[in-house]
Amino acid sequence: MSASDTSCIFCNIVAGRIPSRKVYEDEDILAFHDIHPWAPVHFLMVPKQHLASLAHVGDEHAALLGRMLALAPRLALQEGCRPYPQGGHRVVINTGDEGGQEVHHLHIHVIGGPRPWLKG
Ligand code: AMP
Ligand code: ZN
Repeated sequence: MSASDTSCIFCNIVAGRIPSRKVYEDEDILAFHDIHPWAPVHFLMVPKQHLASLAHVGDEHAALLGRMLALAPRLALQEGCRPYPQGGHRVVINTGDEGGQEVHHLHIHVIGGPRPWLKG
């Protein structure tokens, strides 16, 4: 596992080599709109460090993952999801081929807004 992988699409987004519509950024985390949204709100949160999947997360990443999860509802509100409980949002982490993971850089999907959605 490396800090940045030039063949990884999300590492290239983090590095600014591939453009994205940014939702949030800090030292460790980037959030940007999904290019094929399933719902009125659909953005991805990624660690800036290349981590291939949730299956690669160890105790040393617990604080980072905790911060990402804590941030998700705040960014969902910022992006237009209505508040809990009538509003809310879905958080999805596809992991591995059978888990439906297509991009092998850990990412959290945050999905919400008025239904119907294209998926889910
Ligand atoms: P997953 O199936 O969980 O690996 O989801 C990967 C997601 O990344 C999909 O929802 C794609 O639409 C999204 N995606 C792929 N390339 C880009 C990109 N360049 N910018 C934003 N989202 C992307
Ligand atoms: Zn990467």
